[in-house]
Amino acid sequence: MLGSYTGNILKVDLTKREVQIEKLDEEIAVKFVGGKGLAAKILYDSLKPGTDPLSPENLLIFASGPLTATLAPTSGRWTIVTKSPLTNIFLDSQIGGYFGAVMKFAGFDCMILEGKATVPVYLWVHDENAEIKDAVDLWGKGCLKTEETMKQRLGKNVRVASIGPAGENLVRYACITVDRYRQAGRGGTGAVMGSKKLKAVAVEGVGRKIEYADSEGFKKATKKALKIIEENSFIPLRRKYGTPIWIAPVNEAAILPTRNFKTGIFEHADDISGETMRNRIVVKNGTCYNCSIRCWKYTQVKLGKYKVDEIAGPEYETIALLGSNCGINSIEAIAYANLLCDDLGLDTISTGNTIAFAMECFEKGLISKKETNGLKLQFGNVDAEIEMIKRIAHRRGFGNLLAEGVRSASQEIGSDSEKFAMHVKGMEIPGYDPRGAFGMALAYATSDRGACHQRAWTVRAEIRGELTPRYSIEGRAKFVKEIQDERAMCFSLVLCDFAPLGVHSFVELLNKATNFNFTVDDYLKTGERIWNLTRLFNVREGLTRRDDNLPTRFMMESLPDGVAKGQVITEDLFDEMLMEYYALRGWDKNGIPTKEKLKELGFG
Ligand code: SF4
Repeated sequence: MLGSYTGNILKVDLTKREVQIEKLDEEIAVKFVGGKGLAAKILYDSLKPGTDPLSPENLLIFASGPLTATLAPTSGRWTIVTKSPLTNIFLDSQIGGYFGAVMKFAGFDCMILEGKATVPVYLWVHDENAEIKDAVDLWGKGCLKTEETMKQRLGKNVRVASIGPAGENLVRYACITVDRYRQAGRGGTGAVMGSKKLKAVAVEGVGRKIEYADSEGFKKATKKALKIIEENSFIPLRRKYGTPIWIAPVNEAAILPTRNFKTGIFEHADDISGETMRNRIVVKNGTCYNCSIRCWKYTQVKLGKYKVDEIAGPEYETIALLGSNCGINSIEAIAYANLLCDDLGLDTISTGNTIAFAMECFEKGLISKKETNGLKLQFGNVDAEIEMIKRIAHRRGFGNLLAEGVRSASQEIGSDSEKFAMHVKGMEIPGYDPRGAFGMALAYATSDRGACHQRAWTVRAEIRGELTPRYSIEGRAKFVKEIQDERAMCFSLVLCDFAPLGVHSFVELLNKATNFNFTVDDYLKTGERIWNLTRLFNVREGLTRRDDNLPTRFMMESLPDGVAKGQVITEDLFDEMLMEYYALRGWDKNGIPTKEKLKELGFG
C-alpha cells in the first residue's frame, strides 16, 4: 500500500449487524488523499441525491488521512463526513484528540457506517476487526458517563466517540463528543449517529505501526516542521492562552458577535477574555495526540452555582456564541454551559447562536413567557441560557423548536424574524461579524457546509490590515479561494489548522509518508478538486446561487459601534465579490462548475 495508509476500510451495516473490510483504492487515494477528500468521494459515489440525512441510507464516515497518527506534528486530527441534517448538504467536521490516531493503529484508514440498528448499539473496533454490541443500558446517558462506562467495560486504553441525549433526540446540531473533551461539533453529526441508534464507537489499537514510504526522509521533514512551529512568534501565545486569546483583538476590531450580532463590541469583553480565563479558571494545558503546540486549556470552577470539576475549554467560538452573543459576561458560567453542551452532545456555536436569536425574539415581543414556559429569555440571563440548553437537548417545550436550528425556528416564528436569523444555508454563523472583515462574508457564503470559519479564516489578515483597503472587497475573492483550496488539503492529510506550516512543509511530509511525488501545484490542484467535489455534491442536492448568501442583518444594518462603525455589506458589494469568486473558480454565473473546469480537475 501507499506508505502511511493502512489500506483498510471498515464497512459497518447496522441494519444487518454486519461488518466487512474492504481495500482502499490506491487511485482514489492519490486523487482525493484522505480525511475530508476521501470521505467526500465515498459520500458522493454512494449517496443517492435527496437522501434524508436522518434515514438509514445516509452514511456516517470516520476518516483519517495519510498523516494521521504519523510522527508529523499535530497528527492527531481526523474527520467525520456525512450529509447534514441541519443544512441538507455536504458536511465535514474536523476533530482532534486521540481517536483518529488510534483508529489507524487499530488497522483502518476509514470507517463507513450505514443502516439503522433496531435497538441502541455500540461499535467495538479492535485488532483489525469490529463487533456490534448492545448499548440499551447506555441510551439516555450523557457523553461523559457513556465514555466512563465504555472504559470500565472495554479497558482504560480505549478511545470513545459518543452521543448524548441531543443526538438521541435528533437535535439537528447535535455533536459527537470524542475523547471526553473534543467534539465533531458542527452540522449535526451526532443526530446522524442517533438516527442509526449508534450510541458510541470505541477503538483500541494494539501493535500496528505506521509505515513510511521514506522513513528517514519523513523524520527529517518532521524535524523541520517542528522547528518552524517552535520559531513561530504566535505559538507561545497560543500555548499560553489557547484560542480565547482572540476575544480581545476581535472585540477591538468591533466584530465580536454581541447580542445576536446586533453589534461587534461587547462592553464586558474583558470579563471573558483569554487573559481573564487564564487568571480565573485555567489549571493546566492539554493536547491532542502528538502535538507540541498543546493548546488545550483545562479549566475548573471550584465554587458556586457554576461549579465545573474539569473541562478542556471553553474555546474562542464557545465564549463568543454562548457568551457575548447571549450577553453573558461570566467566564465561569460560560465554562459551565460549555460542559453541559459537551455532555448533552450539543454544538456550542449553533446552540449559542440559536438561543441568542430566541433572546432577541423575546425582547422584541415575538415570543413571551407563554412560549418559553415561564422562562425570562433575555440577553444576559445565564440561568435562562442554561435551562434552554437542557430543553433543546431533550426537545422539551420551546426547546423542541430551537432544536431544529435557527433557520427553521425563524420560519416558524415568522414576523420578519428571518431577517435576524443568523445562518448561511441553515448553519448558524460562528464568532466573527463579517461587516468588519469582508472576506469572511464571502467565506461564510461559499463555505461547502454552510456558515463556517474554518474553510477560509480571513480575520487575522483583515484586522491586522494585511489586506488593503481595510473595509473593502478588493482581493478578497482570490484570497478566500486560495485558502479554501489549501485548507481542503490540510483537512485531507489530516493535520491541524493551527499548525503554522506552509504548503511546502505539507507537501514534503505527504510525499515522504506516501510515494505521491506531489509538486506544490499538484497539491493545490488536489485541494481544488476536493473543493469542487463538495460543490458538485451540493449542486446535486439542489443548491443554487441564491443559497450563497448572507443573513439580511449583515446587508441591511450597519455596525453601530467602534472602529468598524457604519460598515455594512451591501447587496451590490456582495454580488460583485461573489461573481469575481465564481469566475476565479471557473464556475458559471449560477455557481455551477463548468465542464471545462471539471475536465481540468480530472473528473471526466
Ligand atoms: S494545536 Fe491544539 S487543537 Fe491542534 S492538534 Fe495541537 S493540541 Fe490539538
